[in-house]
Amino acid sequence: MTIKAQRGQTLRAKGWRQEAILRLLENNLENAEDQANLVVYGALGKAARDWPAYQGIVHALKNLEEDETLIVQSGKPIGVLKTHPDAPIVLLANSNLVGHWSNAADWYKLYDQGLTAWGGLTAGDWQYIGSQGVVQGTYEIFKIIAQKHFQGSLAGRFILTAGLGGMGGSQPLAGYMADAAILVVEVNEAHADKRIASGYLQYKAHSLPEALKLINAARAKKEAISVGLIGNAAEIYQALLDQNITPDIVSDQTAAQDLLYGYIPEGYSLAQAEAERTSDPEKLAAAAGQSIAHEVRSELEFQRRGSIVFDNGNNIRTQAKEFGVTDAFDIPIFTEAFLRDLFVKAIGPFRWIALSGAEADIQLIDDYLLTEFADNELIVDWIKKANQYVPFQGLPARIGWLGHGERTKLALAVNDLVARGKLQAPVAFTRDHLDAGAMAHPNIMTENLKDGSDAIADWPLINAMTMASSKADLVAIHSGGGGYAGYMQSAGVTVVADGTPAAAERLRLAFNNDTSLGLLRYADAGYEASLTEVKERGVRRIDTQQFKQ
Ligand code: NAD
Repeated sequence: MTIKAQRGQTLRAKGWRQEAILRLLENNLENAEDQANLVVYGALGKAARDWPAYQGIVHALKNLEEDETLIVQSGKPIGVLKTHPDAPIVLLANSNLVGHWSNAADWYKLYDQGLTAWGGLTAGDWQYIGSQGVVQGTYEIFKIIAQKHFQGSLAGRFILTAGLGGMGGSQPLAGYMADAAILVVEVNEAHADKRIASGYLQYKAHSLPEALKLINAARAKKEAISVGLIGNAAEIYQALLDQNITPDIVSDQTAAQDLLYGYIPEGYSLAQAEAERTSDPEKLAAAAGQSIAHEVRSELEFQRRGSIVFDNGNNIRTQAKEFGVTDAFDIPIFTEAFLRDLFVKAIGPFRWIALSGAEADIQLIDDYLLTEFADNELIVDWIKKANQYVPFQGLPARIGWLGHGERTKLALAVNDLVARGKLQAPVAFTRDHLDAGAMAHPNIMTENLKDGSDAIADWPLINAMTMASSKADLVAIHSGGGGYAGYMQSAGVTVVADGTPAAAERLRLAFNNDTSLGLLRYADAGYEASLTEVKERGVRRIDTQQFKQ
């Protein structure tokens, strides 16, 4: 059986909210890296615990009444509770462990016992839209690097990175869109083929000289190019150093957070890693850790030689440090280095998915943005580029980095378009967990915060409770990060614009409150830009300083 998201106007559930969530679940699997094993992306990020759990969720969603809530615990449906029509229709908690037991060893033990599943950020709560979900973030990073270090342009510049999986597969397209020559090392040829088939990658090479020939030819003409090199990142990075080749920008987006399922050690074939995963997992994990350490040492050497090096959110520095690379954190994290200026203003990765399956629906919303947000340079540049270069995967969807008030403005306008029959079916709105008020991850999102509150996990928990109180349709609390435990806490939210006044109220409350919390979180950490936004946009912040006697 192959799962594909239902398109069109026919409902299988008792209302559009339930049908929408069901289509999003199916869409996650339609876009999955390994549908047979329910793995959506990120090595082990699953849409459901197992197939009976998946069928149980589908059955529940089809039969759910408007005033009921489905409860899902780490990918397994637990029950249906009687709530009320303004309550979320799905509540999920994925991969959370009690603090003291929140470590890789305990997590894998519980996973092997079938008691938990990793939800990733958007896998476990059915918000995945394929590689596009991170394309804009990566594109904005490249643009910011161009402005900061390369006089505003990456034309003729060489980006080296690795990983062509579900999320990493966004890198070649983002690099291409930013006018660079980008080389992505990938150990699994089938994954490179998948990116070529989906339009995210242009060329595939089987040797470093072959890849460099393509890259250098494009650089000489200042033309953009994306090349996937079949090989192991640890080996290729070393080979480039040995040949005294220093890329302009270096990163990595392999699934380095996972030493067993995510990162293939140098010298290993895929089959060898697969076999050792059961025969000698400790040996495999140690070899992966050592390879990661080698790769990160190479990244540090590239940095010394002048490359702009950054960690792209896969916990690679943390793993390297555990395997002896004491200076791994000399490499900055992308959030702090490039995107924090946006997050402090609660500008982050908002998404919308056309439940009709019609590309024309996304096109109409693109057109609306280009007219109504004409003075927002970031979104106009992105929408134009996305329109030209980003192919749809599964249900047509769009990501757009928008801030407080902007998200609600768009969502309400779309709800109105649905009501007036201008769109062929309702549209689901969601955002990445990696967003201003929704994630505590001291090695990614909240690294080096001004007030040192990096590890405080209250914020995403407050976010999830607020979303549930703001009539959102789906709310999730996730944990995980590295070895799937102990590194982060995050919250997810989805609201369906079905054209009704009730949906308008849900969209207004949920998305205003979501970004309000983002602004309040950074204002609390002392960021001036957030304090200004809070004041200018009328967010009601309580400043306890004023009560000092
Ligand atoms: P994935 O499991 O789908 O893909 C990982 C890829 O890395 C696979 O194709 C694998 O074959 C390849 N790989 C493994 N070891 C390799 C090696 N030694 N050399 C070359 N290639 C190797 O994972 P994904 O969904 O692409 O996610 C990758 C990482 O990015 C994860 O750690 C994820 O948590 C992180 N992530 C970051 C962001 C962000 O905002 N920056 C967003 C989502 C995910």
